Parts: sequence; C-alpha cells; structure tokens
Amino acid sequence: MPAADLTLPGLPLSATVLDRRGDLRADPQLLARLLADPATRVLRLVGDRAAVETVDGGVPSVVLTPPEPADAGRLALFLGESDGRAHVAVVADDLLEIVDGDPAWHTLRSVGADLDDLGASAFATTLALSNWHRAHGHCPRCGTPTAPALAGWIRRCPADASDHYPRTDMAVIMAVVDADDRILLARGKGFRGNGMSVLAGFVEPGESLAAAVAREVAEEVGIEVTDVTYLGDQPWPFPSSLMLGFTAKALGTELRLQEEEIEAARWFSRDELVAALADGSVVVSGRVSISRRIIEHWFGAPLDSPEIPLR
Ligand SMILES: [Zn+2]
Repeated sequence: MPAADLTLPGLPLSATVLDRRGDLRADPQLLARLLADPATRVLRLVGDRAAVETVDGGVPSVVLTPPEPADAGRLALFLGESDGRAHVAVVADDLLEIVDGDPAWHTLRSVGADLDDLGASAFATTLALSNWHRAHGHCPRCGTPTAPALAGWIRRCPADASDHYPRTDMAVIMAVVDADDRILLARGKGFRGNGMSVLAGFVEPGESLAAAVAREVAEEVGIEVTDVTYLGDQPWPFPSSLMLGFTAKALGTELRLQEEEIEAARWFSRDELVAALADGSVVVSGRVSISRRIIEHWFGAPLDSPEIPLR
C-alpha cells in the first residue's frame, strides 16, 4: 500500500505490511485450515510477550513458526498475508510459566522500536486484538459469554446473535509551543524518575480531535492553544489506543497545573532541553513512542537521551 504523506514518517508500530484480507474472515473453517497447514506462519503471544530473534546480525523480528498441535485449542486470530503466506496469531497463555524469565521473550514496549516492520505490525495488531478479547468476554446486551467469530475479528453472542467489534480508544498527544518556539513538557503522576513528555489525553465522545487537543491542554496546564496541526498517528496497544499526534501554538505561557494529573511542567528552549537531558534532570519517552518523535520533530533532530525505563 502507498505510504501516506506524513509529517512524521516511519513511526514505530505504524507500518502497513500485512494485507489483512478481511474478505477471507467470513469462512468459518479458515483458522482450522490454516492451523493444519505447515506453510502458515504463527506468532505466539504469551501474556504480553512474543519471542524475538535476530538472524545474522540483522534487524530483530518476531519468531514466526509453523502451527503446532496445541494451537488448535488456543485463541487464534487471522492477521492476514505477507509474501503470499498466511499469518496467524495464537494466544498461548498456557505457556506463561515456561516463558517467564526466558530472555528471548519481549514486550512490545521494550522491543517495538527495533523490530522490522512485519514483526512490529504483527505484534501490535496481535496485542491490541487479544487485549480486547481478554476484556470483552461477555455480551454487553445480555451478559452471556461471547465467542470469537470472523477469524478472531469479532465476538458473537450465542443468546441474541449480536456481533461485537474490537474497539480502539483514540488519544491525542500534542506538542504545545509558545511564541518563542519553546516546547512544553510535563511530568504526569506516576511517571518514573525524571521522565517528562508532551501532554496527552483521551478523545471524549462527541468531540473533534482539535477540540480534544484544546481541552486537554486547558485542563492540564491552563493554556489556551490555536493552530492545532496533525503530525501523524501510531497504534498504541497498551491496551487499546491509537495515538494521534499534533502540534499547537500556545496563546500564553503562564501555567496552572491540574494537580491530580500533572506533577510538574515547564517550557524548554532547545538549549535548555539539551542541557537538561545531558545532566539527567529530564528523561524523555522511549524511541518506540510517538511522544519522543513529536519532541524530536520540534527539536529538529534525534535526541541524545536515555529512555524512561520500560517494563
Ligand atoms: Zn447477548
């Protein structure tokens, strides 16, 4: 597929590699047939981890293996096709004790920035979809346990035949820049160490994206913004978000922090940020995140900074 013309190209987790082949999902035998075919490539998710391998010093990828007999009894999700091969994700939480402590198994947060495009998008899709299955086992209409259908892309209620679709929670994340071209960074409650980031928050029902940006900034730091401009977006399956990145111009500089959410916030010139990163008084988000890419977009170059520790 053609890449869109984005201000932030190549965001981690955002590549389009798999042809999802939604047209095949209605076949009720699809997964059973693919899991009986040794040509199928299977990504096994255990908890929130997948096995990662690096072949001959190349780019790391997720381990994709032929199906094994035990997969037939596990939650399976048809991811699509790549290079003419079917890709299926299998949730193998029965292996948790075996995988625990095995250094080959990684979370998407820890390895997502380094994975090849196929591995990153397959892992992100698997995590987002499996998180939804784990949290939506009952019908919201009548409470009956639901069952996966459409090759893992919906859940269906056997009592009232209602179909339930995976949800994606939209969140806006934005660089707020003042008239002197300084960026606003904030430390949310619960950030580790000296971590600071751009502001972010969930889009509310009935709200446009630009309105969500303006509201979140006003609520969290008391600043009015204008010129809200889209930068790019990134799946963020922790557990089910889509991060929509923006930049916005501040109409003032006086900060009024929302104490329940924001522990600290301040404006940084480029020189001030370089100094703060160098002396360790500020640590920014990891390379996997759109947060860091938004800060680097404002800065004009990749940042030389360790990363906020990840699980
Ligand atoms: Zn129902």
